[in-house]
This record gives sequence, structure tokens and C-alpha cells, in this order.
Amino acid sequence: MKIAMAASEVVPFAKTGGLADVGGALPLALEYCGHEVIVIMPKYKCVTDSKFKIARVSKDISCSVIGKNIKVYFIENSAYFNRDGLYMDKKGDYKDNLERFSFFCRAGLDLLKEIDFCPDILHLHDWQASLMAVYLKNLYAGRDFYKNIKSVLTIHNIGYQGIFAREEFAKLGLDWKFFDINGLEFYNKVNLLKGGIVFSDFINTVSPTYAREIQTKEFGFGLEGLLKERKSVLSGILNGVDYSVWDPDADEFILQNFSAGCPEFKVLNKENLQKICALPVNKNIPVLGIVSRLAEQKGFDIFARALDKICRMDLQLVILGTGDQKYHRILKTFAKKYPQKFSLSLKFDDPLAHKIYAGSDIFLMPSRYEPCGLGQLISLRYGAIPLVFKTGGLADTINKNNGFVFDDYTEEELQKIIQKAVLAFKNKDKWGRLVVNAMECNFSWKASADKYIRLYAKAKEK
Ligand code: ADP
Repeated sequence: MKIAMAASEVVPFAKTGGLADVGGALPLALEYCGHEVIVIMPKYKCVTDSKFKIARVSKDISCSVIGKNIKVYFIENSAYFNRDGLYMDKKGDYKDNLERFSFFCRAGLDLLKEIDFCPDILHLHDWQASLMAVYLKNLYAGRDFYKNIKSVLTIHNIGYQGIFAREEFAKLGLDWKFFDINGLEFYNKVNLLKGGIVFSDFINTVSPTYAREIQTKEFGFGLEGLLKERKSVLSGILNGVDYSVWDPDADEFILQNFSAGCPEFKVLNKENLQKICALPVNKNIPVLGIVSRLAEQKGFDIFARALDKICRMDLQLVILGTGDQKYHRILKTFAKKYPQKFSLSLKFDDPLAHKIYAGSDIFLMPSRYEPCGLGQLISLRYGAIPLVFKTGGLADTINKNNGFVFDDYTEEELQKIIQKAVLAFKNKDKWGRLVVNAMECNFSWKASADKYIRLYAKAKEK
């Protein structure tokens, strides 16, 4: 099959979240399965010629290669994309995001014709690429080149929909008849993700449970009704992990490599982590790690409320994250109060993240909602036992054989399950078996790519 993937961020070129990991890894897995794939993304300031091998294609298009021969095409427009942030700066979201990404979507569709790549499937990611599905069914519908292209939209997090003021609609170049409840209108505003959901041939999200959850009022962020209507073309496919990056047996950031065959070497990483974090070096105290955006979605509301009690347990906490200033403040207070138990790093630090996965006994991820989640999958491979709230992708990947799960989102239940995990840690034999079980779980991209290929085949037949 011929697949064109459009995403606003793609590893290794630009990343703010999990979307970029998917944008970079799924094409590789599809190529490995024998499919022809190209990727389309904006050329941001961070995509520099000095960092990447970039060739010119035409005046406004350049290109790089990932995998064996996957061309990544960059849509250039220095006024729109040559900025420090992808979507925002210190002051907040860029005011012209609708213009920026409608330009990206139209230029992306034009690019297909320009390079004469007519895909069977145009795979779009999130609100930034959603307009391609809208344009494909409208502005480009009469054009021969585009008539057989089928679109698949992946929703990575329905909390982000690309919502803009009504007045901005005129900038999309669409007839006003699409500013309608059956089109892009959403409570008198423009909703780009909604446009993608209405006009894509197939829709998926990044776990089966999240695909069900977003059809409910609690998780749908206002789009649950529409998603329910479209449920015959809505599915969930778990993201995979790039095990070439996340491999404890070959990880260059960690002190001692280890694997499911020799998990006992993990303890050297634990002691190293305790040292780095200025915590007492003691292999008998469980280390609980967190690597996360500091946001309410990630469970920091109940975590913050339970924290004083958690800090009084026999454990150590190592937290790496940035985000909400509110949580920066709260966590700082506790790190000061419990210096022998609590190490806090308020930054984005990939090497330290690797050390935390490798050195922790337990990995905390009590997200209130979690479309798929990568942290728990990485921590499994590193033998850091995930402790999660039963939601979305966490519910689909973690169970009592590889982790700890609580299903009532309250600080009391979080506290209880942490207490249970800390207690379980004391039984060395049982814990050792749990660690091996966790490390042997396989969430590779190959399995996910197979599911995407089946979805593409269905879309192609439609
Ligand atoms: P998100 O909703 O943020 O995309 P995921 O669990 O899907 O959550 O993915 C988060 C990814 O970002 C993981 O690879 C995690 O290790 C990484 N990460 C998050 N915060 C940090 C940080 N402060 N430093 C380094 N890596 C981080």
C-alpha cells in the first residue's frame, strides 16, 4: 500500500509529546512490513540543516529520509513555522494557529500532486492535520488525482481539539455552509478536530478502552455525541514502544545494562539513581519513579493531596517533570520537607528519564485519563512496576500480572495501592517474578503496525 502520513511533530525532527513518537515510529514499522510510506510535517525552526540531512525539493519544500527510504517532506513557510515553539510561546498559544495549520494542510495536499505520490491512505494525526480530511472531501473533491485517496484520522488526545473563534472560519477557504453542526461548528466556534472526525473515512484512537471512553460525556470533551454517531468507523489501536531506543540491555544512558534474563543487575542502576538524587543508598527501600508532564491529566491532583501520607511511608520518590506551575510549587514544598525521601527535577531531561526507568522499582502513573500512555510501557521493559489508574491505555496494558491498578480515582485509593505495592516489594521472590513478567511484556510497533495495515485495507475497500 502507499501511505502518506501527516503529523505536526515527528521524531527525530520535532517533539512535544507522544504524537511525535508515533509520527516517527509507525512509518518505520510500516516500511518494515513492505509498505511505501512518506511523511509530511511543517519545517519548524528546530529542523535545521546542520542537525539533519535535508535536501531541497522545490522552492517551499525540502526533504529528509528516515528508515531505509521513507521521505519526510517539510512544508516551509518561514512566517508561520520559523519560530521557537511548535504551537505556543511563553505567552500562550500562537494567535494564528488556525492559519498556520490550514496552510499546512492545503500545502500538504498540493505536495502529493507535486511529487506525484498518490497514496491509497492519507493518515492524519490530531487537529493540526484534520483539515486535510475536510479539504479532501470538499475543495479537492473534484480533482482526479485526489478522488481515490482514503483518509484515516488518529486522535491522540481528545483534550486538544484546535478550537478557534467563529470569525476565523473565513480563513479556511471553505464555504460557510460547513460552519454548521454537521461540519466544523462547535458551540459557535470553529473546531478543527471535529472537521476531521466528520470528514475522515476512518477514525481511530490510541487504545481500545480510550476509543470507548471518548464516546462518553466524562471523556469526550463535547465530541462524544459525534463519536457515537461515527462508532462504526471508530476503533482503538495501541501505540507501540520503540525498543531500539528503550532497551535496558543496550541503553547508553544507564550505568549497568540488564535484561529479563539477568534482572538482578537492575539494582546497580537503583543505587546509582539514589546516589545521583542524593537519597540514602539502600536497596531495600523501594524507589518510586515518575517521569511526566506535571498536569492534572496525569493524576497530580490526587497525588498532591496524598503526598504527605505517601512521604511518611517507607519509600523514596524520584520525580522528573515540568508543567503546571501549581504542581511545581507543591512538589517543591514536599521535596524540601522530606529531603531524605524525595528527589525532584523540574525539567525535561531525557538521559535522566532513562536512569529513572532503570533505577526505579515502581513507576507511578495515576493519570485521570490516558489515551495510550508510553511511560507505563517503557517502565515495564525496564522492570519498574507500573502503578496506574484503570483508564484508557493504562487499563489495556497493565493488570495484576505486570503491575498495580486502582479503579477509584481518589487520593485514598491511590494511597492504598501505593501502600500495597510497597508491601509487595518486601517479598523478594514474588517481586522478582513480577519484574520478569513485566520485562517480558511485548508492546512493539510491529504488532500495532499490523493493526493499522488492517485498518488501511478496510479504508481502501470502502
Ligand atoms: P504524554 O501525554 O505526555 O505524551 P506519554 O506517557 O504518552 O505522555 O509520553 C511521555 C513521554 O515523554 C515518555 O517517553 C516520557 O519518558 C517522556 N517525558 C515526559 N516528561 C519528561 C521529562 N520531564 N523529561 C524527560 N522525558 C519526559
